[in-house]
Amino acid sequence: MSDSPKKPDSSKSSASSPRSNAVKEAASSALAAFGYPTRAFDSTQFAAALLRQQQFCGVASLKAMTPVQRWRAVSLALAEQLQAYSAPPVSPTPSDSDAPQRHVNYLSMEFLPGRLTGNNLLNLGWYDDVAAALAEQDLNLSDILEQETDPGLGNGGLGRLASCFLDSMATVGQPAMGYGLNYQYGLFRQYFAQDRQQEMADDWQRDAYPWLLPRTALAVDVGFGGRLQTQADGRLRWLPDSVFRGEACDLPVIGYRNGVTQPLRLWRATHRDPFDLALFNEGHYLRAAQAGISAASLTSVLYPNDNHAAGKRLRLMQQYFHCACSVADILRRHLNAGRALSALPDYEVIQLNDTHPTLAIPELMRLLMDEHQLPWDEAWSITGRTFAYTNHTLMPEALERWDERLFSRLLPRHLSIIRQIDTQFKALVEREWPGDRQIWAKLAIRHQRQIRMANLCVVSCFAVNGVAALHSQLVVNDLFPEYHRLWPGKFHNVTNGITPRRWLQQCNPALSALIDTTLNTAWVTDLPALRGLEPYADDAGFRERYRQIKADNKAQLAISLRQQYGVVVDPQALFDVQIKRLHEYKRQHLNLLHILALYRQLRDNPHLDIVPHVFLFGAKAAPGYVLAKNIIYAINRVAAVIHQDRRVSDRLKVIFLPDYRVSLAERVIPAADVSEQISTAGKEASGTGNMKLALNGALTVGTLDGANVEMAQQVGEENLFIFGHTVEQVKALQARGYAPSDYLAATPLLREILNELASGAFSQGDKNAFAPLLDSLLKQGDPYMLMADFAPYCQVHQRIDALYREPDEWTRRCVLNTARMGMFSSDRAIHDYRARIWQAHR
Ligand SMILES: *Cc1c(COP(=O)(O)O)cnc(C)c1O
Repeated sequence: MSDSPKKPDSSKSSASSPRSNAVKEAASSALAAFGYPTRAFDSTQFAAALLRQQQFCGVASLKAMTPVQRWRAVSLALAEQLQAYSAPPVSPTPSDSDAPQRHVNYLSMEFLPGRLTGNNLLNLGWYDDVAAALAEQDLNLSDILEQETDPGLGNGGLGRLASCFLDSMATVGQPAMGYGLNYQYGLFRQYFAQDRQQEMADDWQRDAYPWLLPRTALAVDVGFGGRLQTQADGRLRWLPDSVFRGEACDLPVIGYRNGVTQPLRLWRATHRDPFDLALFNEGHYLRAAQAGISAASLTSVLYPNDNHAAGKRLRLMQQYFHCACSVADILRRHLNAGRALSALPDYEVIQLNDTHPTLAIPELMRLLMDEHQLPWDEAWSITGRTFAYTNHTLMPEALERWDERLFSRLLPRHLSIIRQIDTQFKALVEREWPGDRQIWAKLAIRHQRQIRMANLCVVSCFAVNGVAALHSQLVVNDLFPEYHRLWPGKFHNVTNGITPRRWLQQCNPALSALIDTTLNTAWVTDLPALRGLEPYADDAGFRERYRQIKADNKAQLAISLRQQYGVVVDPQALFDVQIKRLHEYKRQHLNLLHILALYRQLRDNPHLDIVPHVFLFGAKAAPGYVLAKNIIYAINRVAAVIHQDRRVSDRLKVIFLPDYRVSLAERVIPAADVSEQISTAGKEASGTGNMKLALNGALTVGTLDGANVEMAQQVGEENLFIFGHTVEQVKALQARGYAPSDYLAATPLLREILNELASGAFSQGDKNAFAPLLDSLLKQGDPYMLMADFAPYCQVHQRIDALYREPDEWTRRCVLNTARMGMFSSDRAIHDYRARIWQAHR
């Protein structure tokens, strides 16, 4: 283990790179804080490793490789060097005086790390050295980094949050591991054919992904099905009828220039005996491999739903597999450190990212009781002090419920444990609300032969948190008021955050450099330091540099739009961006209605002097979500018609970028002028896209929903464009009986637009083309209240356009956005988790 302290890298500093100063300061402050040795880049070792990779490829030089081979070779050479420095994770030993710092196990069915090679280089501080080493061979590092396919391990915001948290935990010195699944096929790749979404398997090539390190010795056996047997001592024992094997691979999570590497451990399924030699010898060649193939299918695909529960058997199996492997690993680590089971909550906390990993709760109970012979009360006490749960949604369709019959067939022992938790909890409810059957119907874990995972979490965990102030308030007041009455101290808020490393330093190097030279502090690990930019909002010279950077970023995006999609856009136009999963509650269709309104106005008044607009969308729809796909189709059709209309196409462009993912977000966000955050109030738990865009100097047009509320508080309401019904107003409308027709009657423009959509004008005469979209608005009661917010939305856009004509004032507000987004760093979120939940007395 090469753990010898190395000097912080100070050899290669290019005075020309403004980044490197902040880099050195961050490195040295991290050194002081944690006492970790910083790793110097070893160029000799790197060259030797590259040479080996070249030989494995059977070529005479790096130049002779394919571009992807080159990326893989560079990444493997780096992974090799990194591994030489990495120590296996251990939970910290408590000093005599302090309570131990608990080790965090972050369980999530999804992670969305984005490309790793470039980010790892940045966090290690090796970027310039590697770029220089490659330049000697006439190779360009940033071209090489462009070859990486995003790891396909998550859907959207929830998985991206998990990845931001891992980055921050490694950076702020919070000992932690991520636990997830190693899907062979990630979220599908999206492309458009005749303007409709098509899906292709995302074979992201986990088997050849250079950063995945196999941990063969850590394999775990996981049972399914079978029956329960009562033993001589009266204890139940589970006899599964099939056993899968979980194999571990680690992705390194590298702290920002502090010498820390922590694993994201991902499990893939195989069979214990993948190949039946007897069958093979009898000539059954295909059947011989069958068991292995069907076991592997357990982790072959990621379910493509976001904010929607699927209820499928394979999904339940994935969830249990994830939990069983992870809990076994946590317990093994704990026991190997020579610690007592009863001390588990003193050393380990298990944070559940939504209810997807809830089964870890009954799984820990089972292991403690059935494998370690603890009595129920002791097992329950340990379990109840180990788990914490993060709620991500209030929407009923996203709250997981599982059919009890499915459960009893796959997980009979877990069902019996859940029954007992439920029974025990019922006694408590009976004491608080004697004889109240309505309350019990609401609070029970088992209800109408279904298991409600959120209820199981709230009952079993020592902490429950929402992900933005407004959301946490709604969790307490609307979703779980009775639970709150039972356990008021259990409920917390931890507002989400984003990592400034990827979402500013990496994706926007020019702005990052401007901030470096202006502040001359290590803002990358101390985002609130951006407040120091506030005075510069009134500095014309600074504003000009800031504006120029945005202009350059837009020009760069415009070039890639032309190269990749053949569309030409005016880089001076206002870039209005909505990038996020496609979902009715996010209301991409409200954005579309506004675009149609602009188009209508321009046709009515061809010489209207409007601000030229480029509307950019990026969004994947779940393959089974008919309305979401119809919205994509509608946006693409409207984009095509506008594009062909010579009267307007110089002032209005609509582009739906295919295959929205982290690496695309990194290109679009630095070039955005306006950030669309327009969900129906009360529906978006937090949002993190809103934070990325504002940090990079886009002005938000948004409802008072999720973290938009706190962004308005931080940035100043005058520096965002808030519009639309508030949560209270939405509730009041619903209570009165929301009537979308009232708004239609009052807004002729809205009627016109909807009629035009229905006329076939945008669909080559097909009057039914947008039936799902129009029916939802006109026949199904407009559940997300687009009609109610349409007029205010159009008005706020007029204010936006007016402001855009005053570039000085516009830029002033952008600067203030960047300056005041400091609290939305995921470093702050991790400190909040630590103070409020992980290190809190329990
Ligand atoms: C940040 C991010 C999200 C979440 O975006 P929201 O606007 O908060 O829904 C989803 N997908 C990707 C790829 C992201 O980077």
